[in-house]
Amino acid sequence: FTKDDLLMVLREAEKLAVNIIAPTLAEGDKEGCTFKDGKVSVPKCFHEVWKKYNEGGWLAAGESPEVGGQGLPRTVNFAITELIGAANYAFQMYPGLTHGAAGLIHSYGTEEQKNKYMYKMYSGEWAGTMCLTEPGAGSDLNLVKTTAKKLPDGKYLITGTKCFISSGDHDLTENIVHPVLARIEGDPPGTKGISLFIVPKIRVNDDGSLGEPNDVNTGGIEHKMGIKGSATATLNFGENGKCIGELLGGQCEGMKIMFQMMNEARLGTGMQGLDSASAAYEHAVQYAKERIQGNDIMAGKDPNAKPVTIINHPDIRRKLMWMKSHIEGMRSMCYFVAYCMDKSTVAKTEEEKANWEGYLDLMTTVVKAYCSDKGLLICSTGMDVYGGYGYCSEYPMEQYLRDEKIATIYEGTNGIQALTLVGRGLGQRKGMNAMNLFGEVQKNIKKMKEHKELGKYTAILEEAANACIELTMFFVQAGKAGNFLLPILNAYKFMEIFGDVLVGHFLIDAAGIAADKLAAIYKEKGADTPEKQKALQKENKEAAFYFGRVASARFFAVEILTTVKARCEAVKMDEKAPLEMTEEAFAY
Ligand SMILES: Cc1cc2nc3c(=O)[nH]c(=O)nc-3n(C[C@H](O)[C@H](O)[C@H](O)COP(=O)(O)OP(=O)(O)OC[C@H]3O[C@@H](n4cnc5c(N)ncnc54)[C@H](O)[C@@H]3O)c2cc1C
Repeated sequence: FTKDDLLMVLREAEKLAVNIIAPTLAEGDKEGCTFKDGKVSVPKCFHEVWKKYNEGGWLAAGESPEVGGQGLPRTVNFAITELIGAANYAFQMYPGLTHGAAGLIHSYGTEEQKNKYMYKMYSGEWAGTMCLTEPGAGSDLNLVKTTAKKLPDGKYLITGTKCFISSGDHDLTENIVHPVLARIEGDPPGTKGISLFIVPKIRVNDDGSLGEPNDVNTGGIEHKMGIKGSATATLNFGENGKCIGELLGGQCEGMKIMFQMMNEARLGTGMQGLDSASAAYEHAVQYAKERIQGNDIMAGKDPNAKPVTIINHPDIRRKLMWMKSHIEGMRSMCYFVAYCMDKSTVAKTEEEKANWEGYLDLMTTVVKAYCSDKGLLICSTGMDVYGGYGYCSEYPMEQYLRDEKIATIYEGTNGIQALTLVGRGLGQRKGMNAMNLFGEVQKNIKKMKEHKELGKYTAILEEAANACIELTMFFVQAGKAGNFLLPILNAYKFMEIFGDVLVGHFLIDAAGIAADKLAAIYKEKGADTPEKQKALQKENKEAAFYFGRVASARFFAVEILTTVKARCEAVKMDEKAPLEMTEEAFAY
C-alpha cells in the first residue's frame, strides 16, 4: 500500500462513519432491540448500515485477500474501527464479534470448518458471537457448567445456558455462529478441562446450504443502561437435546484458543473507551465554542462587558485539555498495540517477533482497563462542559456516557484486568516484556531531556517513570517476602499509574515531532513573535494542530505525571485497612 492508498481507505471509512452510521446513533438507542415470539430484532435503521458496511468489505478489511479481506495493516484497521465505533458503538458490536469469531475458525479450524463457516462470516453473510459467561460463571470461568457429549459421528451434543451474549440473537443475518465454551463429559474440572465448540444457530449442510434449526433458543434479552442497539441475549443450548456442536481445535484447549478472541475483544473494548471519548470531545469543543454564558474573567466587574462563549473560561479550557490530552495519549497507546501486531507479523527473527508480541501481551490489559476507565471519565467531563444540557437526551453526551459504562465491565472487569497485569503481565518472560517497554520509555526520555521546550516536562516524565519502575520492583520484593496481598490490593492503582506513564511517554514523543514541525511552519511564515504565532494558528490548521499536541504533553505532564510519585509512595505504605475490615464493619 502507498500512503495515498491508506489515506483513501480512511477517507472512505470516515464517509461511512459520518454519513451512514452516525445518523443511527440516537435512533438505535431510542428503539433498542426487541424480543418477541422467541426472536430478537435490532433497531430497524441498523439493517441498511449492516448492508452498506458489508458491501464495503469493512468486516475483514484487516485480513488477507485469500480469505476475502483487503490485507490492511492492523494500525490502519484500528483507525477504521475508531471511526466506526465513535459513530455508533452499539452497531460496531455486530461486526466486531463476527470478526473475532471468524478469526478463531481462521486460526484453529479445519479446512472443512473454514469452508463451512469462516468465509461467510468474514463477508458478513453470517454473524458471530463469543459464548463464555453463564449465570454461575462470570469472572471465574472455572465454573463453566455447559457440557458436551460426544456423538458417534465425532460431533457433540451441547447442553447449557450462556447469558449476557452480545449479538447472541438478531435479525441482521440468517445464521449466527456461536463459539461456545463447554466441558466434554469426563474432562477435568476448572479451565483446563474446557473445550471450544462451533455451534451454529441453524445447522449447515455439507454443501454449505442451511439446514434445520440447531436447538439454540433465546431465553430473552437484557434491558440495559446503554448500547441498547446491541442485543445482549440469554441463550439456551440443547433445551430439546438436539444442539449439535463441532470441536474447534484440540480437546481441553478451549481457553487457550478462546484467548485469541478475548484479547481481540479486550483491545476492542479499550478502543470503545477511545471511540466514545473522542466523539464526546468533538461535541464538547463545538458546544463550548457556541454556548454563551458569563463574562470574560479579564473583564472584571465591568457592567458593560458582554457575555462570552464558555470556551473562554479557564475552567472549561482545563476540562477540554484534560479530555484532549488523555484521548491523544490513549490513541497512541491503542495504535502502538496495533503497530506491535504489524511488526510481529513482519518480524525477521524469532527474538524480534517475541519482543513485539511481548509488548502486545503486556499492554492488552492496560489498553482495556485504562482506556475504558478514562473514556468514561472523559464522557462525564464532556457532560460537565455542557452543563445541564449535557444531562438531557436532546444532546448526545448522556448517551455516550451510558454506552461507554459497559466497557469497564465486560470482557473481564477492569479490576480483573488489573490483577492480570500485576499477577501475570509484569512477570511474563521473566519480566522482559515490562523491562523492554520501560526501556522504550527511557530511550524517549534520553532523547527529549535536552529539548528546549519539552525538556522540563520530560524531567517530570522521568520522575514518574522511575517511580513506576521502583514500584514494580517493590511488588516483586513484596511477593518474594510473602506479602502478595500488597500487589493484589493495589493492582488497580498500579494499572492506572502504568497507564499514566505510558500516556505521558507517548504524548512527549509526539510533542517532540510536533514542536519541530511547528517551528518549521513559524519560520516559513515569518511568525517570529507570540502575537504573530497566535494569529497564524487562526488561519493555519496545521500550526494549530501542532501547537495543540505540544500543549497536550505539557498539560498532561504537570496535571497527571506530577502526581505519580506520590501515588507510588502511597502504595508502598502497605495500608491494609480494606483487608482488616470485618464484613460487619462495612456498615456505616
Ligand atoms: C452488556 C453486556 C454484554 C456482555 N457480552 C458478553 C459476551 O458477548 N460474551 C460473554 O461471554 N459475556 C458477556 N458479558 C459478560 C461479562 O463479560 C461479565 O458480566 C463480566 O465478565 C463480569 O462477570 P459477572 O457479571 O458475572 O460479575 P462477577 O464475576 O460476579 O463480578 C462481580 C464483581 O466482583 C469482582 N470480582 C469477581 N471475582 C473477583 C476476584 N477473583 N478478585 C477480585 N474481584 C473479583 C468483579 O471485578 C466485579 O467487580 C456481557 C455483559 C454485559 C453486561
